[in-house]
Amino acid sequence: MEEFDVLIVGAGISGIGAAYHLTHQRPGTKFVVLDALDNFGGTWWSHRYPGIRSDSDLHTFGYRFKPWNGPPIATAEEILKYMGEVIEDNELDQHIRYYHKVTFARWSSEKNLWEIEAKRTDNDERHYFTANFLWMCQGYYRHWEGYTPEWPGREQYQGRIAHTEAWPENIEYTDKKVVVIGSGATAATIVPAMASSCEHITIIQRSPTYFRPGRNQDDLAETLRQLDIDDRWIHEIVRRKILRDQAIFVRRTFTEPDKVKEELIEGIRTLLKPEIDVETHFNPEYRPWQQRLAFVPDGDMFQGINSGKVSIETDEIDTFTKHGILLKSGKEISADLIITATGFNMNVLGDIEFRIDEKPMVFSDTVTYRGMMFTGIPNLLWVFGYFRASWTLRADLLADFVCRLLAHMEKIGANRVDVELREQDRNMELLPWIDPKNFNPGYLMRALGKLPLRGDKPEWQHTQDYWREKDEIPAIDLSGSEFIYK
Ligand SMILES: Cc1cc2nc3c(=O)[nH]c(=O)nc-3n(C[C@H](O)[C@H](O)[C@H](O)COP(=O)(O)OP(=O)(O)OC[C@H]3O[C@@H](n4cnc5c(N)ncnc54)[C@H](O)[C@@H]3O)c2cc1C
Repeated sequence: MEEFDVLIVGAGISGIGAAYHLTHQRPGTKFVVLDALDNFGGTWWSHRYPGIRSDSDLHTFGYRFKPWNGPPIATAEEILKYMGEVIEDNELDQHIRYYHKVTFARWSSEKNLWEIEAKRTDNDERHYFTANFLWMCQGYYRHWEGYTPEWPGREQYQGRIAHTEAWPENIEYTDKKVVVIGSGATAATIVPAMASSCEHITIIQRSPTYFRPGRNQDDLAETLRQLDIDDRWIHEIVRRKILRDQAIFVRRTFTEPDKVKEELIEGIRTLLKPEIDVETHFNPEYRPWQQRLAFVPDGDMFQGINSGKVSIETDEIDTFTKHGILLKSGKEISADLIITATGFNMNVLGDIEFRIDEKPMVFSDTVTYRGMMFTGIPNLLWVFGYFRASWTLRADLLADFVCRLLAHMEKIGANRVDVELREQDRNMELLPWIDPKNFNPGYLMRALGKLPLRGDKPEWQHTQDYWREKDEIPAIDLSGSEFIYK
């Protein structure tokens, strides 16, 4: 049994950020980072499909504390290099253990600490840890499996099937006929990366997605670089500009959704040849930002469509056939390779079995405090980023919060912190984790029943509003009656 003050689950961008902030804001804290994979990076390490890249700009997806010096949209390799520098420059390696999948965590009220079991993914050994605080940086989806809907006739298909989340190493697609099932950011990434090698790619989508084409260059950053401005200044200035522009855009998706929708579709129409049926393939039924908007750097996906190498079918799959896919419309698409870019299965709290003392913890019975802490679960914080802004903005904000909370507990001599509904919250209506009218991607809808409840006040929900939280989270009064210390 190894003893730590803080145990961080996950060595993705959130977990490495957590380790950085602990080292700088709480030097002397004894902590460990456990990750089930064999390297740091999380999303950027586990995804191997061609063209894998961010769809957020790296000025805001990058950490607040480390300038980003490249073009805004980055490849997985570039993001891993950036994270590797954070690890190296801050000697974080000594704190990270790979191949450690946390399988069990029990809070002991008697000892005021978490007892944690991790299974080694390389040799099945069990390792045991204790920690006073559990910092959950496990992301939101299972890295070890993607979501694949049930399709009839799958077994009779004689070609190869690959999921973007479990990309096989030896896959050959040169001069092959390829089908990509699913639209959204993943399809928008993989299709341009593969198009030049394949004979043809057909995207089959049940319904259209919003795409936002733009240049992969930030003019302000370029100008500041030419003026020899310090990297850190450029990072901060460009972040502020991007965040202001995004705030205006997000607000408009609520105040004038029809106009924004029209602008987005018009932006695509101007990039496509007139014979492409924009109404059918690029006109989503939902409001902009009800699901993630897919950024298309330099419009690369549309170039493939214009060249005839890429086509889109907006239709439902009737059945897989021996040689491809039969659509409900009766059209058959033949394929040597079918790529399923059909999304995720949610990984709720790392798929870890939790107990509070002797009782199994039922996450869906808890109420969330700002989407980061939960009633009935002491000394635990979950990093769940933003959908409409870069994830890492919240990872940084929550890291400051944890460090402040730990310092406060030290100051008042507390070993345990719980969040509890206050007197004024007692009659508050409790609702599902997220309002589907507001944001409704498939993986969240499928997992809604497993997620905590939210209240109707901002303190008791994940507002998904960076622009509000950037001021609210640093101002949280840790002596407030929602915090119970022991
Ligand atoms: C292809 C793709 C592109 C994306 N692009 C963007 C983007 O541009 N902008 C954006 O904001 N978001 C993007 N996202 C969302 C993205 O996942 C997050 O932004 C971010 O990378 C999440 O970082 P994280 O560290 O919180 O989680 P992850 O990157 O998911 O890392 C979590 C880590 O925790 C580990 N882990 C999980 N459970 C356990 C356990 N029980 N025990 C031990 N280890 C465990 C995993 O192995 C993993 O390494 C993208 C997602 C995908 C899939």
